[in-house]
This record gives sequence, structure tokens and C-alpha cells, in this order.
Amino acid sequence: MAHYKKILIAVDLSDESDLVAQRARAVAEGGDNELHVIHVIEPLSFAYGVDIPMDFSGLQDEIQTQARQQLQRFGAKHGIDESHQHIVLGRPEVEIHAAAEEIEADLIVVGSHGRYGLALLMGSTANGVLHGAKRDVLAVRVGD
Ligand code: AMP
Repeated sequence: MAHYKKILIAVDLSDESDLVAQRARAVAEGGDNELHVIHVIEPLSFAYGVDIPMDFSGLQDEIQTQARQQLQRFGAKHGIDESHQHIVLGRPEVEIHAAAEEIEADLIVVGSHGRYGLALLMGSTANGVLHGAKRDVLAVRVGD
């Protein structure tokens, strides 16, 4: 069987991220491959709009510092080198695709919540990643 060469794990850094990484590592096991991890930070201006007369920059910097530290701990726990840890600002599905393109990943691994009713209509990051993906996507069921 042909093994995946570069696997990109997308994590929101919640507790469920461990399961997503464990599944990715299971797929990677025994192959000659690279594991990468990405966490996308959504700018506060996306959530609150750019017209609010408040300066979010201090808070945004703090969020980024915390996220970087968390990602470093996560990478260390799962044996993913710092040079393979990616942290970017933007919309998760857009940035996950862009990173997969940049590193030429052949598999993206995301967590996927079972969704019902309104939440299903609103969609999810896993759906967003799957749509328009140019490579394989493994959706790991989380949150049960
Ligand atoms: P969701 O169902 O939209 O909450 O997201 C489920 C999965 O999407 C997570 O387990 C991650 O794999 C991925 N994901 C969500 N948010 C992010 C993020 N900010 N950065 C990277 N991946 C994310």
C-alpha cells in the first residue's frame, strides 16, 4: 500500500485534538513520512467587526502568544518538530487548505463533530476543509 508522505493535522487545541493527532499518527505509523500540525487563530476583528472603536491588538497578541505555547506543548507531546508546527491568522478552512498546498501535504486530518439540526446547517470546519480539497481528508469523529 502506498503510504501518505506528508500529513497535515489541523487542531483547534481543544482536548479533542489529542484524538485527532493519535489517529493521524496511526495512519503515519510504519511509513516514511512527515507529520505537520496547524492551528489557525481567527482575528478578533472577524468576530466583532472592524468598526468597533476599541483597540484589540494587546489582546490579540496575548492570544497568539498563548496559542503558540500551547501548540509547542502539543507538538512535543506528539513528536512533531517545531519546524513542522504552523500557526497562522485567518479563517481555519482557508488557511488549512493554503498550508496543505504550501507544504504539499497529501492528507489532511481534522476532527469532526456529529452535528444535528441548526448546528448541521451552520456547517463545520471539517465540512469546509472537505469542500474543494485537492487532497485526501480524514475526518476523525470527536466529541461523542
Ligand atoms: P468544528 O467542528 O468546526 O468545531 O471543528 C472540528 C475540527 O476542525 C477540529 O477538531 C480541528 O481539526 C479543525 N479546526 C477547528 N478550528 C480550527 C482552528 N482554529 N485551527 C485548526 N483547525 C481547526
